Amino acid sequence: MSFSLSGISASSSNTTEPKHVKVLILGSGPAGLSAALYAARAELAPVVLTGMELGGQAGLTHTIENYPGFPEGVGGPELGELFQKQAERFGAVVEFDTATAVDLSQRPFRVITENGEYLAEALIIATGARPNHLEVPGEYELTGKGVSYCATCDGWFFKDKKVVVVGGGDSALEEGLFLTRYASSVTIIHRRDTLRAGKVLQSRAFSNPKIRFIWNTVVTEILGKDKVTGVALKNVLTGETSTLETDGVFIFIGHTPNTQMFTGQLEMRDGGYIVSNQYMETSVPGVFVAGEVTDNHFRQVVTSAGMGAAAAIQATHFLEKEEAVKA
Ligand code: NAP
Repeated sequence: MSFSLSGISASSSNTTEPKHVKVLILGSGPAGLSAALYAARAELAPVVLTGMELGGQAGLTHTIENYPGFPEGVGGPELGELFQKQAERFGAVVEFDTATAVDLSQRPFRVITENGEYLAEALIIATGARPNHLEVPGEYELTGKGVSYCATCDGWFFKDKKVVVVGGGDSALEEGLFLTRYASSVTIIHRRDTLRAGKVLQSRAFSNPKIRFIWNTVVTEILGKDKVTGVALKNVLTGETSTLETDGVFIFIGHTPNTQMFTGQLEMRDGGYIVSNQYMETSVPGVFVAGEVTDNHFRQVVTSAGMGAAAAIQATHFLEKEEAVKA
């Protein structure tokens, strides 16, 4: 396959020559690495830019119990390594690099990274999503000093300590249950009196003696100077305020997609998710998406992996069709 470099400005903050690839994949979670496997098997020699977190959010999950093929569950980092190994076996190249800017106005698409620059004939965006913040006083100041968004990463620091979990979804309950391994008590604070989480997690949480719930309540401030000492609470029904002593605050209140870089270049819907069709195509031909960057509904490892495969299959068709026209 021959590529034309015409129309691409040579100027960039990097001095090295851009690397020209057929398929560039942004993100190394289940979506990105599954796309890499399929694109590699189509002999497109895909390059994956890992982003800040190799393995994406799944890589921060202690145990994944609902990915088919692992009846006893599998560690998030371990599953990520297996995905990577399998993709590399067929020729995918995984680069520890992060995209910082893109130009999707013409092909090949131009992607500036921390370490260089790429020109890509097809782009698969699998940059995932990041945890939402409460946006209350004390949250930013005490992040890493008792405030956390990852129980797998930080749970160990709370051995025999009291922790609070904020949220009522699957993440809050799953991570809350995980924290009971270490913490002496886990108080889950939810803004309603009904959980959003699935029934299996709910019954596990309700029957765990270390877990208790505070309903209809929001955290209005995280207290402490050099480390978390407590939270200020407000009952949303009565308006009653109170404080609760705690050593840690784990926040699991949903996610925001990592799509800022594509603003104004790709069609997006509410919340900044990239619009795609059933073929994982975006508003720009040749740019495909997979995983939580487009999906705020399923958000499962298996669905993200499926979308990654679909995006790579479609990218392959796209490039093949173009080759056929040229021939
Ligand atoms: P989520 O389902 O969106 O739940 C977020 C929770 O945070 C909700 O209970 C929400 O309350 C609460 N919340 C949102 N904003 C808040 C705020 N400003 N203050 C206080 N509370 C707030 O998010 P998630 O739990 O991260 O799950 C995301 C997706 O991943 C879901 O589709 C979930 O099924 C999936 N997931 C699955 C598993 C699994 O299958 N094992 C594990 C983790 C995640 P309301 O309920 O009142 O809206």
